[in-house]
Amino acid sequence: MSKAEPLVLIVSGPSGSGKSTLVQKILELPGTMLSVSCTTRPPRKTESDGKWYNFVSEAEFQRMVEQGEFLEYAQVFGKNWYGTPRKSLDDALALKRDLVLEIDVQGALQTKQKLPGAVAVFVMPPSRADLEHRIRARGQDSEDEIRRRLERARQEMLNYSSYDFAIVNDDLERAGREVQAIALGSRCRVARMEDRIRDILNSFGG
Ligand code: 5GP
Repeated sequence: MSKAEPLVLIVSGPSGSGKSTLVQKILELPGTMLSVSCTTRPPRKTESDGKWYNFVSEAEFQRMVEQGEFLEYAQVFGKNWYGTPRKSLDDALALKRDLVLEIDVQGALQTKQKLPGAVAVFVMPPSRADLEHRIRARGQDSEDEIRRRLERARQEMLNYSSYDFAIVNDDLERAGREVQAIALGSRCRVARMEDRIRDILNSFGG
Protein backbone atom coordinates (compact mmCIF):
# COMPACT_ATOMS: atom_id res chain seq x y z
CA MET A 1 0.00 0.00 0.00
CA SER A 2 1.32 3.44 -0.90
CA LYS A 3 2.05 5.56 2.16
CA ALA A 4 0.58 8.63 0.48
CA GLU A 5 -2.93 7.24 0.47
CA PRO A 6 -5.77 7.90 2.87
CA LEU A 7 -7.96 5.04 4.08
CA VAL A 8 -10.67 4.75 1.43
CA LEU A 9 -14.02 3.22 2.43
CA ILE A 10 -16.30 2.34 -0.46
CA VAL A 11 -20.00 1.85 0.24
CA SER A 12 -22.23 0.39 -2.49
CA GLY A 13 -25.66 -1.14 -2.55
CA PRO A 14 -28.87 -1.20 -4.54
CA SER A 15 -31.03 1.87 -4.60
CA GLY A 16 -33.42 1.62 -1.63
CA SER A 17 -31.04 -0.51 0.45
CA GLY A 18 -30.49 2.35 2.90
CA LYS A 19 -26.82 2.84 2.07
CA SER A 20 -26.93 6.63 2.42
CA THR A 21 -28.06 6.27 6.04
CA LEU A 22 -25.14 3.94 6.69
CA VAL A 23 -22.75 6.38 5.02
CA GLN A 24 -24.02 9.00 7.46
CA LYS A 25 -23.22 6.57 10.30
CA ILE A 26 -19.59 6.38 9.13
CA LEU A 27 -19.44 10.16 8.81
CA GLU A 28 -20.46 10.47 12.48
CA LEU A 29 -17.03 9.04 13.32
CA PRO A 30 -14.42 11.77 13.87
CA GLY A 31 -11.68 11.76 11.22
CA THR A 32 -13.89 10.83 8.27
CA MET A 33 -15.06 12.81 5.24
CA LEU A 34 -17.31 12.23 2.27
CA SER A 35 -15.99 12.29 -1.27
CA VAL A 36 -18.27 14.64 -3.22
CA SER A 37 -18.86 13.09 -6.65
CA CYS A 38 -19.42 14.92 -9.91
CA THR A 39 -22.54 13.99 -11.84
CA THR A 40 -24.34 14.99 -15.02
CA ARG A 41 -27.67 14.13 -13.34
CA PRO A 42 -29.81 17.20 -12.68
CA PRO A 43 -30.18 18.08 -8.99
CA ARG A 44 -33.30 16.92 -7.16
CA LYS A 45 -35.38 19.55 -5.35
CA THR A 46 -33.72 18.81 -2.01
CA GLU A 47 -30.14 18.83 -3.31
CA SER A 48 -27.80 21.79 -3.31
CA ASP A 49 -24.58 21.93 -5.31
CA GLY A 50 -21.42 20.77 -3.54
CA LYS A 51 -23.04 18.91 -0.63
CA TRP A 52 -23.55 15.37 -1.97
CA TYR A 53 -22.68 16.13 -5.58
CA ASN A 54 -21.11 18.70 -7.81
CA PHE A 55 -23.58 19.00 -10.66
CA VAL A 56 -21.75 19.49 -13.97
CA SER A 57 -22.63 19.55 -17.67
CA GLU A 58 -21.80 16.62 -19.95
CA ALA A 59 -19.14 18.78 -21.61
CA GLU A 60 -17.49 19.57 -18.28
CA PHE A 61 -17.64 15.91 -17.25
CA GLN A 62 -16.03 14.89 -20.56
CA ARG A 63 -13.29 17.50 -20.06
CA MET A 64 -12.55 16.08 -16.62
CA VAL A 65 -12.37 12.55 -18.06
CA GLU A 66 -9.92 13.69 -20.74
CA GLN A 67 -7.75 15.51 -18.21
CA GLY A 68 -7.61 12.37 -16.05
CA GLU A 69 -9.27 14.14 -13.14
CA PHE A 70 -11.30 11.12 -11.99
CA LEU A 71 -10.18 8.27 -9.76
CA GLU A 72 -13.11 6.34 -11.22
CA TYR A 73 -16.18 7.18 -13.27
CA ALA A 74 -19.13 5.31 -14.69
CA GLN A 75 -22.40 5.71 -16.48
CA VAL A 76 -24.99 4.58 -13.96
CA PHE A 77 -28.30 3.01 -15.04
CA GLY A 78 -27.15 3.61 -18.64
CA LYS A 79 -28.09 7.25 -18.21
CA ASN A 80 -26.15 9.80 -16.20
CA TRP A 81 -22.41 9.96 -15.55
CA TYR A 82 -20.91 9.91 -12.08
CA GLY A 83 -17.26 10.23 -11.04
CA THR A 84 -15.01 10.50 -8.00
CA PRO A 85 -12.52 13.37 -8.40
CA ARG A 86 -8.91 12.41 -7.63
CA LYS A 87 -8.81 15.68 -5.70
CA SER A 88 -10.90 14.02 -2.97
CA LEU A 89 -7.94 11.76 -2.23
CA ASP A 90 -5.55 14.72 -2.00
CA ASP A 91 -7.95 16.57 0.29
CA ALA A 92 -8.39 13.55 2.58
CA LEU A 93 -4.64 13.09 2.75
CA ALA A 94 -4.01 16.76 3.54
CA LEU A 95 -6.74 16.78 6.21
CA LYS A 96 -5.66 13.36 7.56
CA ARG A 97 -9.17 11.98 7.18
CA ASP A 98 -10.58 8.68 6.02
CA LEU A 99 -12.41 9.10 2.72
CA VAL A 100 -15.89 7.64 2.20
CA LEU A 101 -17.03 6.90 -1.35
CA GLU A 102 -20.73 6.17 -1.95
CA ILE A 103 -20.46 4.77 -5.46
CA ASP A 104 -21.93 2.06 -7.66
CA VAL A 105 -20.54 -1.41 -8.34
CA GLN A 106 -18.63 -0.39 -11.50
CA GLY A 107 -16.94 2.43 -9.60
CA ALA A 108 -16.14 0.14 -6.67
CA LEU A 109 -14.39 -2.35 -8.97
CA GLN A 110 -12.33 0.42 -10.64
CA THR A 111 -11.36 1.87 -7.27
CA LYS A 112 -10.28 -1.50 -5.86
CA GLN A 113 -8.11 -2.03 -8.92
CA LYS A 114 -6.39 1.34 -8.54
CA LEU A 115 -6.26 1.35 -4.75
CA PRO A 116 -5.94 -2.23 -3.52
CA GLY A 117 -5.91 -0.97 0.07
CA ALA A 118 -9.43 0.44 -0.29
CA VAL A 119 -12.09 -1.31 1.80
CA ALA A 120 -15.35 -2.09 0.02
CA VAL A 121 -18.64 -2.59 1.87
CA PHE A 122 -21.76 -3.90 0.20
CA VAL A 123 -25.12 -2.99 1.73
CA MET A 124 -27.86 -5.54 1.08
CA PRO A 125 -31.59 -5.52 1.70
CA PRO A 126 -32.68 -8.59 3.70
CA SER A 127 -34.88 -9.85 0.86
CA ARG A 128 -36.50 -8.96 -2.43
CA ALA A 129 -39.83 -8.43 -0.67
CA ASP A 130 -38.23 -6.01 1.78
CA LEU A 131 -36.57 -3.96 -0.96
CA GLU A 132 -39.80 -3.87 -2.95
CA HIS A 133 -41.62 -2.65 0.15
CA ARG A 134 -39.07 0.15 0.70
CA ILE A 135 -39.15 1.27 -2.93
CA ARG A 136 -42.97 1.32 -2.91
CA ALA A 137 -43.00 3.24 0.39
CA ARG A 138 -41.07 6.07 -1.30
CA GLY A 139 -43.93 6.33 -3.77
CA GLN A 140 -41.71 7.75 -6.53
CA ASP A 141 -41.73 5.00 -9.12
CA SER A 142 -44.07 3.47 -11.67
CA GLU A 143 -44.66 -0.30 -11.73
CA ASP A 144 -42.23 -0.57 -14.63
CA GLU A 145 -39.58 1.39 -12.79
CA ILE A 146 -40.05 -0.74 -9.64
CA ARG A 147 -39.52 -3.90 -11.68
CA ARG A 148 -36.41 -2.39 -13.29
CA ARG A 149 -34.98 -1.34 -9.91
CA LEU A 150 -35.49 -4.80 -8.45
CA GLU A 151 -33.81 -6.47 -11.42
CA ARG A 152 -30.95 -3.96 -11.21
CA ALA A 153 -30.58 -4.75 -7.51
CA ARG A 154 -30.26 -8.45 -8.35
CA GLN A 155 -27.61 -7.72 -10.99
CA GLU A 156 -25.64 -5.52 -8.58
CA MET A 157 -25.75 -8.09 -5.80
CA LEU A 158 -24.26 -10.72 -8.11
CA ASN A 159 -20.99 -8.76 -7.75
CA TYR A 160 -20.85 -9.34 -3.99
CA SER A 161 -17.60 -11.32 -4.13
CA SER A 162 -15.61 -8.21 -5.19
CA TYR A 163 -16.40 -6.65 -1.81
CA ASP A 164 -14.62 -7.11 1.51
CA PHE A 165 -17.69 -6.79 3.75
CA ALA A 166 -21.43 -7.26 3.44
CA ILE A 167 -24.00 -5.64 5.70
CA VAL A 168 -27.61 -6.77 5.72
CA ASN A 169 -29.68 -3.71 6.46
CA ASP A 170 -32.59 -5.28 8.33
CA ASP A 171 -31.97 -3.47 11.62
CA LEU A 172 -30.62 0.04 11.25
CA GLU A 173 -29.07 0.21 14.68
CA ARG A 174 -27.11 -3.02 14.29
CA ALA A 175 -26.18 -2.24 10.67
CA GLY A 176 -24.95 1.19 11.80
CA ARG A 177 -22.76 -0.38 14.46
CA GLU A 178 -21.41 -2.85 11.93
CA VAL A 179 -20.45 -0.22 9.38
CA GLN A 180 -18.74 1.87 12.06
CA ALA A 181 -16.90 -1.23 13.29
CA ILE A 182 -15.65 -1.89 9.76
CA ALA A 183 -14.39 1.69 9.45
CA LEU A 184 -12.67 1.63 12.84
CA GLY A 185 -11.25 -1.85 12.32
CA SER A 186 -9.85 -0.90 8.91
CA ARG A 187 -7.88 1.89 10.56
CA CYS A 188 -6.05 -0.67 12.67
CA ARG A 189 -4.84 -2.84 9.83
CA VAL A 190 -1.10 -3.37 10.22
CA ALA A 191 -0.46 -2.12 6.68
CA ARG A 192 -1.86 1.28 7.73
CA MET A 193 -0.12 1.32 11.09
CA GLU A 194 3.47 0.74 10.03
CA ASP A 195 4.78 4.29 10.68
CA ARG A 196 3.17 4.34 14.11
CA ILE A 197 4.41 0.85 14.95
CA ARG A 198 7.94 1.80 13.93
CA ASP A 199 7.81 4.93 16.12
CA ILE A 200 6.71 2.83 19.06
CA LEU A 201 9.44 0.28 18.39
CA ASN A 202 11.97 3.11 18.14
CA SER A 203 10.92 4.31 21.57
CA PHE A 204 12.05 0.88 22.75
CA GLY A 205 15.37 1.36 21.01
CA GLY A 206 14.31 -0.18 17.69
P1 5GP B 1 -28.31 8.90 -7.32
O1 5GP B 1 -28.50 9.51 -8.67
O2 5GP B 1 -29.54 8.15 -6.86
O3 5GP B 1 -27.79 9.89 -6.32
O4 5GP B 1 -27.16 7.79 -7.46
C1 5GP B 1 -27.27 6.78 -8.38
C2 5GP B 1 -26.13 5.79 -8.19
O5 5GP B 1 -24.88 6.40 -8.54
C3 5GP B 1 -25.96 5.27 -6.77
O6 5GP B 1 -25.78 3.86 -6.83
C4 5GP B 1 -24.68 5.94 -6.30
O7 5GP B 1 -24.00 5.14 -5.36
C5 5GP B 1 -23.90 6.03 -7.61
N1 5GP B 1 -22.83 7.05 -7.56
C6 5GP B 1 -22.84 8.24 -6.93
N2 5GP B 1 -21.68 8.88 -7.10
C7 5GP B 1 -20.88 8.07 -7.84
C8 5GP B 1 -19.54 8.17 -8.33
O8 5GP B 1 -18.81 9.14 -8.13
N3 5GP B 1 -19.08 7.12 -9.06
C9 5GP B 1 -19.85 6.02 -9.32
N4 5GP B 1 -19.29 5.03 -10.03
N5 5GP B 1 -21.11 5.88 -8.87
C10 5GP B 1 -21.62 6.90 -8.14
